[in-house]
Amino acid sequence: MLFRAVRWRYNGAMRFCSHCGGDLSRRVPEGDSRPRDVCDRCATIHYENPKVVAGCLATWEDRVLLCRRAIEPRRGLWTLPAGFMENEETTSEAAARETWEEARARVEIEGLYTLFNLPHISQVYMMFRARLCNLDFGPGVESLDVALFSEDEVPWDALAFPAVRETLKLYFADRGQAFYPFRAGDLIRAGEGSEYKVHFLRSS
Ligand SMILES: [Zn+2]
Repeated sequence: MLFRAVRWRYNGAMRFCSHCGGDLSRRVPEGDSRPRDVCDRCATIHYENPKVVAGCLATWEDRVLLCRRAIEPRRGLWTLPAGFMENEETTSEAAARETWEEARARVEIEGLYTLFNLPHISQVYMMFRARLCNLDFGPGVESLDVALFSEDEVPWDALAFPAVRETLKLYFADRGQAFYPFRAGDLIRAGEGSEYKVHFLRSS
């Protein structure tokens, strides 16, 4: 027997093999330590790995660009323009592309600013600082509204994602010194529905 068959409650993510159309079983392949989707017919193992979300903290003078989400999750809440990387692009290209798609804004990327691990949902956020090229922007199809906000105008109680909140907090704190060091941290959620806690990784 090649595999120790371990059937797990299926989350419905994938039902059939993308190579041959065969049925998938959730089991731990030999020599592996985690359950995977394995094809019953061709034995292909369909690995699932974390996704990278890339986005921009785009500024114009003392204001930052925020988008009000037109889609779930967190419809109606505000976010920095960001989204999942596509194949065959770089992280900064993904950040600029998402900013164009969600805010119809062209940016000049200044550098990577924050990286947050969200192991609870298997995502990694990479947020870049960027300068708006001009004031020609507006809502893309995934946004209800796009606007520039000064620090005291930011809708802190209506932000969509913890990585966005933490990135904005760091930005406004750093701005006093006009020095924006790269930060990496973990956003850890104790349980379903609980608040995220942020743990910054010490830079040496
Ligand atoms: Zn197959």
